[in-house]
Amino acid sequence: MIVPRLVFAAKSKSTVTSEEALQATEEVSQTIQEVGMKLWDISEISLQEVESSKYLKNILKKNEFKLTSEGTSHVPTAFIAEYGTGAPVLGIMLEYDALPGLGNEAVPYKQPRKDHITSGHGCGHNLIGAGALGAALALKNLMKEKEISGTLRVYGGAAEETEGAKVYMARDRLFDDVDTMLHWHPLNVAGVANIRSAALSQMYIEFSGKAAHAGLNPWDGRNALAAVEIFLHSVNMMREHIRPTARIHYIIKNGGEAPNIVPDKASVLLTCRDENREYVEKSVVWLKSMAEGAALATQTEALAVDYYGVHDLLPNTPLAERMQHHLEKIGVPQYTKQEIKFAKRLQKEAGLEETGMTKDIMFLPNEQTLGGGTDVGDVSWQTPTMGLIMPASPEGIGVHTWMATASHGSSIGTKAAIASAKVLTLMGIDLLLDNKLLKQVKDDFLKRTKGFVYQSPINPAIKEPVSLPKSMRSYESALELKNSFYKQAGDDQFMPTE
Ligand SMILES: [Zn+2]
Repeated sequence: MIVPRLVFAAKSKSTVTSEEALQATEEVSQTIQEVGMKLWDISEISLQEVESSKYLKNILKKNEFKLTSEGTSHVPTAFIAEYGTGAPVLGIMLEYDALPGLGNEAVPYKQPRKDHITSGHGCGHNLIGAGALGAALALKNLMKEKEISGTLRVYGGAAEETEGAKVYMARDRLFDDVDTMLHWHPLNVAGVANIRSAALSQMYIEFSGKAAHAGLNPWDGRNALAAVEIFLHSVNMMREHIRPTARIHYIIKNGGEAPNIVPDKASVLLTCRDENREYVEKSVVWLKSMAEGAALATQTEALAVDYYGVHDLLPNTPLAERMQHHLEKIGVPQYTKQEIKFAKRLQKEAGLEETGMTKDIMFLPNEQTLGGGTDVGDVSWQTPTMGLIMPASPEGIGVHTWMATASHGSSIGTKAAIASAKVLTLMGIDLLLDNKLLKQVKDDFLKRTKGFVYQSPINPAIKEPVSLPKSMRSYESALELKNSFYKQAGDDQFMPTE
């Protein structure tokens, strides 16, 4: 049961003008640029962001933040750092994981990286790391200079692309004492993320049959791939009856070794999404029974585990309105002729109209549900949370593409990170000093979460992320793995995606 803090103690008498806040952000803009490019260069994928995490922690330590947690909530590359003491507690979230296979030089055409790194920041988490860190540094400098009371807490949200650390942190209730949480994400538009993202569950389904020679004595075998086929056929029949907001997508992780061997193992990775956890969980129950049915039909054994999930994203009206106000004040970045040329060339590569970068700020979204999910969802049910989106790639260029990787490694990406840091700094100052706003934000949160009891979407049997590389697992967890489902899946091959 969430027991939100009802009393605020923003005692500071200080005032900070917007000019002072923006000046503080300008002063860290060089750092934002360096961090964005450094993370882009390293390009470490989910749960392997060892150098990226170390790099960010070092900058925070050098800037008087205290590292209060490392390897947070069983995620080795997650961390928490803090500056100041007491209330109010303002949280800022960082992300820094890249995506496999999306590596590209920061040029507006397809060109693999010269250093042979194949992963890439196609979702721009290098810029999240840089921009959100920049806001944290600017806010800390202002808190120090103006003697603003309160706690500024930076959450190192590792592994957003797979089994996001924020859900592990939420399971440990690490957001309960936070008054408000801020974050941002690069995209190709500018706006406030006053939306609901989808809730989701990730499942691993495995069938065990019996191997046999497919020509000589197939009657002695039982085909695990046949079970997968029946299971997936059922999934596709199920589509007729799911809500328009639901999404189910899957890959066959293992379909056997060779056609002349009856496969004794076959497996599927599946993601099921919908507008809230209730609908997702209903689908999960149905999917599990389908796996059982497929096993019955093929005389195989089924294992169906929902190992990870996220909540939908909870909006907050006062936070969204204030953020919209600041975003409109800051506006979208101004671009040089070269940057526009770069953007148009990327659009040409993608077969899009060559319009360049967006010039507009979206109207405040009215809490529409989107098809994608984020681990920010779980945070938003524990503390009032609001995010921002800034254009870091040309119009029409989607994230999770090599084109986005290229753009996120260019000065276009840096400009998005700096602009976001400005909006987040302005928000942060308001949330540290404006008691009236804090009260409105909290009231809105309490109204929306009335009667809500947070239940972690992580399977209770799962202690740490299942796609964690073997070398990074704790000894205890390795022992637990012995009899668990993912031992059979073949440790390091197991790579779910969000
Ligand atoms: Zn992302």
